[in-house]
Amino acid sequence: MSLGITWTTDWIRRTAQVVSEHRVELVTLDREIGDGDHGENLDRGYTAVLAKLDDLPTDAVPGDALKLVATTLISTVGGASGPLVGTAYLKAAAAVGKEPELDGAALVALLTAARDGIVLRGKAEPGDKTMIDAWTPAVDASAAAQADGKSEAEILDAAATAAEQGAKATEPLVARKGRASYLGERAIGHRDPGAQSSSLILRAAADAAADVVGKDA
Ligand code: ADP
Ligand code: MG
Repeated sequence: MSLGITWTTDWIRRTAQVVSEHRVELVTLDREIGDGDHGENLDRGYTAVLAKLDDLPTDAVPGDALKLVATTLISTVGGASGPLVGTAYLKAAAAVGKEPELDGAALVALLTAARDGIVLRGKAEPGDKTMIDAWTPAVDASAAAQADGKSEAEILDAAATAAEQGAKATEPLVARKGRASYLGERAIGHRDPGAQSSSLILRAAADAAADVVGKDA
């Protein structure tokens, strides 16, 4: 069963919901190793996205919805994360093109393009204590699950689980990119807020896929 526009818009709505629910947690993480605005930044962005989502044409495809998120986040979210996450959605939209239904290979391409977009924009490497440390294991796990012949929902679940582990694994790291890099060893022991929000975004994708059976098909 492939995933179409119903899954895509459900993913976006769930992301907005979970970002809003975790706003204080993300602010707290960013207060520890940054400037305390990460939760506010993302919540503002996804709230703006929700306001525009109903304006999508009825024949919209997944790439259209992803592009709407990209342009909205880039224009409404300040800080490092707006352009970074916005670029992720922009590259993801380009990867899926006009395809109305996304199979496992398309989902892996979507996630890979999103991660590559963040790298292109922010130049972070794995282990730099950034959102890349959630996205890269997620991409790897999704590709492995797809190669194993897993379903779309299983591929996204594998990605989300790997992202959650990746976010946790940022805790002992020293940051080499972003504001947290100014702290040196004082960043040790704190989870990277962008890696944490990335794991929320990816879990929302998996939850939407688990729920979509019978809706898109
Ligand atoms: P700001 O740092 O401008 O206040 P946010 O607080 O919204 O922006 O986002 C901070 C998050 O952005 C960090 O936790 C980190 O995950 C991510 N980040 C910062 N710089 C980079 C980069 N160069 N590449 C990838 N991610 C980055
Ligand atoms: Mg910040």
